[in-house]
Amino acid sequence: MPEPTPLADMDRTPAPVGSAAHVVIVGAGFAGLAAAQMLGKSKVRVTIVDRRNYHLFVPLLYQVATAALSPADIAAPIRRVLAAYPNIDTVLGEVTGVDQGTRRVLLADGGYLPYDRLILATGSMYDYFGHDDWAAHAPGLKTIDNARTIRARLLKAFEQAEIEADPVRRDALLTTVVIGGGPTGVEMAGTIAELARYTLANDFRRIDPRWAKVILVEAGPRLLANFPGDLPAYATATLAGMGVELRLNTRVENIEAGVVTAGGQRIAAATIVWGAGIRAQPSAAWLGAETDRLGRIKVKPDLTVPGAAGVYALGDVAGLDQDGAALPALAQVAKQQGQHLGRSLRRLRRGKPLKDRPFRYRSRGDTAIIGRSSAVFVMGPLRLKKTLAWMMWALVHVYLLIGFDKRASVAGQWAWRYLTQERGARLIDM
Ligand SMILES: Cc1cc2nc3c(=O)[nH]c(=O)nc-3n(C[C@H](O)[C@H](O)[C@H](O)COP(=O)(O)OP(=O)(O)OC[C@H]3O[C@@H](n4cnc5c(N)ncnc54)[C@H](O)[C@@H]3O)c2cc1C
Repeated sequence: MPEPTPLADMDRTPAPVGSAAHVVIVGAGFAGLAAAQMLGKSKVRVTIVDRRNYHLFVPLLYQVATAALSPADIAAPIRRVLAAYPNIDTVLGEVTGVDQGTRRVLLADGGYLPYDRLILATGSMYDYFGHDDWAAHAPGLKTIDNARTIRARLLKAFEQAEIEADPVRRDALLTTVVIGGGPTGVEMAGTIAELARYTLANDFRRIDPRWAKVILVEAGPRLLANFPGDLPAYATATLAGMGVELRLNTRVENIEAGVVTAGGQRIAAATIVWGAGIRAQPSAAWLGAETDRLGRIKVKPDLTVPGAAGVYALGDVAGLDQDGAALPALAQVAKQQGQHLGRSLRRLRRGKPLKDRPFRYRSRGDTAIIGRSSAVFVMGPLRLKKTLAWMMWALVHVYLLIGFDKRASVAGQWAWRYLTQERGARLIDM
């Protein structure tokens, strides 16, 4: 065992900063982790800091919320993922600011991390459009806690409905409102409808879970508005066929405990899920950087932050236009940006001047799942729906999962669920 290196003062870098350039990465999401892996086994010293000790595969959180997967299936310990790279240190900590004068990342515990180059990859959060008090009643899907809260509310509502004598209260318990008709809202509405119709169908004595009502509320005129051609219409028809009640052109006016007011109507619902809009984590304030309308740090095409020497921003926290439109907040954009920047920062130690090359996003396919064997998938001119799209969706997501054990476990659970409609994670644990 090597002797542990004592921490110098409040410097939280796990070993003394030597002559090698030191890159600090804030956030081990898709962008930060990809940058770190690209810098792995290079001559550059890297410290990656995150307030969680795990990388979270956010796109599958809805499966935790609907009892299909367990949290550990979609989370990988950051330290383990990066264990093979001796030049990378992992620090568990909450970043609260950046001192650009002394080039230090400031931590909530009063410590700091000195940097030569700094990568901000802190991601995004749900935007409640000025009504942050709605969050407690209508959680989004960004954290494991969010997913566990939704799962607990959903499953508890069926349990309470089973012993509820009053039909009005029982109806409210069996009602779920999902807000937002983008991929998250469509995925949630479809999966909850299937949970009630198939998985829970035979498990109760006094209620029929198929009585459950799922209402999807969308302010715009159509679902999956960013998908081309007939794919939004296909999603709409499929959800309607699964019994989901669609309320398009309907604005949410208020959310309180167990009640959504939308389009002038009060809807009593035991479970309310928010999937309507996101904004960047407020990391721009650490730099005094310019932001776009979603609070994202406006970066140059090479991902540098204008006016902040040696600082880059990636992923959901970065705003970058390509061909006249803002790049979408997608895991694949974040990952490609991390790989791009990591590749160019590998040259730091070699004494060569850094060529900050412009980043260009190449879509590997946009996809949204609606239910068992139904999804939409778009890549360039290719447009798929139904089973083929569902298979592409499953392939892409299993491939993107970190670690072979997770891939094998998730693929196995999906195959089992496909055949049986069973869900193994039906736990009320909060
Ligand atoms: C429900 C849902 C479904 C989605 N489905 C898809 C999909 O199917 N396909 C797709 O491509 N994209 C999808 N996305 C979008 C995708 O999840 C994001 O674009 C992606 O996670 C962004 O990656 P990131 O690295 O920028 O941020 P994140 O993955 O959010 O990572 C940010 C990291 O920064 C850390 N952090 C934040 N602030 C601090 C701080 N102050 N101090 C320390 N650490 C901090 C966080 O703990 C986190 O680990 C989905 C998003 C949601 C919400």
